[in-house]
Amino acid sequence: MGKKLTSRSEDYSKWYNELVVKADLAENSGVRGCMVIKPYGFAIWEKMQAQLDKMFKETGHENAYFPLFIPKSYLSKEASHVEGFAKECAVVTHYRLKNAEDGSGIVVDENAKLEEELIVRPTSETIIWDTYRKWVQSYRDLPILVNQWANVVRWEMRTRLFLRTAEFLWQEGHTAHATEKEALEEAEQMMHVYAEFVENYMGVPVIKGTKTESERFAGAVETYCIEALMQDGKALQAGTSHFLGQNFAKAFDVKFANREGKQEYVWATSWGVSTRLMGALVMTHSDDNGLVLPPNLAPIQVVIVPIYKGLEQLDAISEKVDPLVKELRAKGISVKYDKRDTHKPGFKFNEYELKGVPVRLAVGQRDLENGTFEVARRDTLEKESVKADEVIEKIETLMKDIQENIFKKALDFREERITMVDTYEEFKKVIEEKGGFVSAHWDGTTATEDKIKEETKATIRCIPLNAELEEGRCMVTGNSSTQRVLFAKAY
Ligand code: AMP
Repeated sequence: MGKKLTSRSEDYSKWYNELVVKADLAENSGVRGCMVIKPYGFAIWEKMQAQLDKMFKETGHENAYFPLFIPKSYLSKEASHVEGFAKECAVVTHYRLKNAEDGSGIVVDENAKLEEELIVRPTSETIIWDTYRKWVQSYRDLPILVNQWANVVRWEMRTRLFLRTAEFLWQEGHTAHATEKEALEEAEQMMHVYAEFVENYMGVPVIKGTKTESERFAGAVETYCIEALMQDGKALQAGTSHFLGQNFAKAFDVKFANREGKQEYVWATSWGVSTRLMGALVMTHSDDNGLVLPPNLAPIQVVIVPIYKGLEQLDAISEKVDPLVKELRAKGISVKYDKRDTHKPGFKFNEYELKGVPVRLAVGQRDLENGTFEVARRDTLEKESVKADEVIEKIETLMKDIQENIFKKALDFREERITMVDTYEEFKKVIEEKGGFVSAHWDGTTATEDKIKEETKATIRCIPLNAELEEGRCMVTGNSSTQRVLFAKAY
């Protein structure tokens, strides 16, 4: 298993990278900024996908699939959109290779140059709105409520496993509506859906809000977001939902005849969460011993480790364990009975601790004699001896308790790290020494926001939704402000 993890207090960023690799979630690949997601990591992602997909369908959405490539001319049609993404685009220029004439190897065949260059999608608004033009004629064709599960490429310079990669997996919802009101409601609804998923399944508390102009999605009129706080006091944008107005409909000429027969442009939203959520999950709950997974997303919820000498003892243990495994599975709990004889129990304990399995059962000769199991929970590392006939009930209770406990712990942590300040001096001190969210008055201008970012590295994470209105003065310029906004250093 190798040596222990670097501790969080020693080097948080190193701890994270080591943990992601050692817990078998993902590793770097030969392609700069692109990762290999390993089976254990992918199993968690699949659980996230399954739950999100269910929630999207419950809110009326359907899945579809659009091309990986976007003609360059499409991307250029919405001016602010292309401006926002231009610096991160991977471009396909040729479609063939050939043997070099001097025998030096394989080279690009210059005769196979594409007539129009293709962009590997950084997001799919343009290709989708080009398609929606063909799908929409009248108000009867609306709304369109489509989602796609896909990979996208954004050529990021500073990458980190899951949190920011050049290629990432995500879902992107793209909806089309007859009215502004309906599109706004959709964008807000999806922010709430994301928040519900992240809080109730991932156990990660989030703050809902809107982005300032400079942090807004390129091409959006309004960006709704959910922001989470990691254990090092840095914020992470966990999901975004955009109200796109009629920007893409105008760029791609998507019109419909309304009930009065008049032509109108269609209203749009788009919304996405990515494999970044895996990073949020790891960074929020895990400790110096390894991952701590919420039962709602753990690929293995319960692991059972037999402690035995010789086959005879193992058989006696299995006689007790096999029916238990069956009963737990019938209740929808995923169980692994690890009776490998190639590894010692201590090794297995460490491995499942590292991998964040919520509940571990151990059973040895003494337990057999007493009719008990040793039950250990990963979140608090507490152990207790439980009678065999009470063990299922105990596990069911623990599934709920652990889910609630890790959410509560993360919520307490975050609440302690929302600091209200009224002066810029105080602000700088809190950002530097304590971290977390800082709630302060801001004059609403990009110039002030930029100055703060330059001087402190903190950005406005969001303008919180439903926050109390409060007369105040911008901590930097002294100009008037009606509401506090949340600042933080962010990933
Ligand atoms: P956006 O389309 O920019 O609103 O991003 C949609 C979602 O993808 C947000 O939840 C982002 O946090 C996430 N995201 C953006 N860039 C990356 C990246 N390079 N790696 C992983 N996730 C990302």
